[in-house]
Amino acid sequence: AMPDHPEDCTDPLDVLSRVFGHPGFRGRQEEVVRHVAGGGSGLVLMPTGGGKSLCFQVPALCRPGVGIVVSPLIALMEDQVAALRQQGVAAAALHSDLPEGESRTVLRDLHNGDLKLLYVSPERLALEGMLSRLETLPVALFAVDEAHCVSQWGHHFRPEYRGLGVLAERFSRVPRLALTATADPRTVEDIRRQLGLAEDPVFRGGFDRPNIRIEAAPREAERSQLRAFLREEAGKGGAGIVYCGTRNKTDQTAEWLRGEGHDALAFHAGMESEAKRDAHRRFARGDSVVMCATIAFGMGIDRPDVRWVVHLDLPKSPESWYQEIGRAGRDGLPARALLLYGAGDIALGRHRIEESPAASEQKRIERQRLDAMVAIAEAATCRRQILLRCFGEPEPPPCGNCDVCRAPPRLFDGTVAAQKMLSAVLRTGRRFGVAHVVDVLRGKLTDKVAQFAHDQLPTFGVGKDFSESAWRGVARQLVARGVLDVAVENHGELVPTDAAKPILKGEEKVMLREELVQASAAPARNAR
Ligand code: ADP
Ligand code: ZN
Repeated sequence: AMPDHPEDCTDPLDVLSRVFGHPGFRGRQEEVVRHVAGGGSGLVLMPTGGGKSLCFQVPALCRPGVGIVVSPLIALMEDQVAALRQQGVAAAALHSDLPEGESRTVLRDLHNGDLKLLYVSPERLALEGMLSRLETLPVALFAVDEAHCVSQWGHHFRPEYRGLGVLAERFSRVPRLALTATADPRTVEDIRRQLGLAEDPVFRGGFDRPNIRIEAAPREAERSQLRAFLREEAGKGGAGIVYCGTRNKTDQTAEWLRGEGHDALAFHAGMESEAKRDAHRRFARGDSVVMCATIAFGMGIDRPDVRWVVHLDLPKSPESWYQEIGRAGRDGLPARALLLYGAGDIALGRHRIEESPAASEQKRIERQRLDAMVAIAEAATCRRQILLRCFGEPEPPPCGNCDVCRAPPRLFDGTVAAQKMLSAVLRTGRRFGVAHVVDVLRGKLTDKVAQFAHDQLPTFGVGKDFSESAWRGVARQLVARGVLDVAVENHGELVPTDAAKPILKGEEKVMLREELVQASAAPARNAR
């Protein structure tokens, strides 16, 4: 819809201060609010915590009629409705978990014009009669929250979101505002197409979260790394989130942390919904709670004092990582994000994409996203700069608040090291994992080395100059570059790719991060 009668509406700034008690808008909020209050449609791309809610709540209150908010998560709807009611706004939610009697009351209020904001699940909105009902009522606007759920490119696709395309046809005069924290260009175009917003403006902003210090490190001894991190954070108050790659790991990590004296909880999609709600509640209330969770934990967290987020496994894309770390430091105070990753994660991520039933075009995109994530993890330049470029920011300056900016790594010519590793892999017949290959390089006479007579190989003991973890660092960097592959389906054996040839032939130089190799060689720094 194009802006119609801006004069009809109440002043947004007035609503902002009177109803929400905020003195001013942030970032692009005001622009969005004025556009929608004036009858315009569009797409808002703002990170989690960026203040998307006000972008539709304020114009809904400025315009005549009820604002309809489509939201995929019941917990999220209920939080927002409760908060709005506390501020004196007539708000309600309509979803499948609602007892029959209550949904009748909501529908009655809706028809009597007693509601200013109605949160609806996409399923409920699609139910027979709901849209026809709305056609008989004055509707202030439609807001489609978590709009990336409409796109198959992301991992949050919800078939019911597809049905929202009809809003453009059936309510052509009502403003429609889609909102998401996902800024990936492909998804953005998909959302605009699916929701009929191709001609409407996109408001993008606020992706930088300068208060979050970002750090990444190879995962060498996960638990002692986590313990060291928590020791640094001790006594700072607030909550923390440990993102784990699997459901099992959330339980195991939470249990271990409880043993370490932390108030730790687990959360994953496989839990009963009552247990999930309970975990959400405890997280919202408890002081220094540590939540060990899969990425299922996230939507609807509005705790401003999450002080840190740790990832124990490599996220699948910069978008998801950013969204997850964005849960830290919403109060604007210093917060931290630590990413731990290993060569196995990179290989596993690549294999998952190959094995998935997705179309080849989508696989290509997912590979690019994973590679971008690996580039951030292995970065030798400002990590935030790489991250912000992924979100389409043209020339972000080095941030000064990531580990790379604070202590820039030095690179050294690691060509010889790479050649030694590759030839050890080849000479042992591409049948062994990193541990055995490193034993061969370091000249360690293990049972396995003896069994396969690998002490007879010319590469046996050629790598005594590097520590074991230094060699692991070399392997990981070679995996990150796609020079080595890890056969995750089998026993994790290392397999050189075509990219190994020019290195072995000495036609290509390999620069490695000196600091990684040295840090690994010096246990004192690891134990920090
Ligand atoms: P998002 O939906 O983008 O994740 P929210 O709408 O939940 O973000 O807003 C995040 C936090 O920022 C909330 O606590 C909200 O009250 C606060 N906030 C948003 N806009 C403003 C503003 N203009 N002034 C003060 N606080 C704001
Ligand atoms: Zn930086």
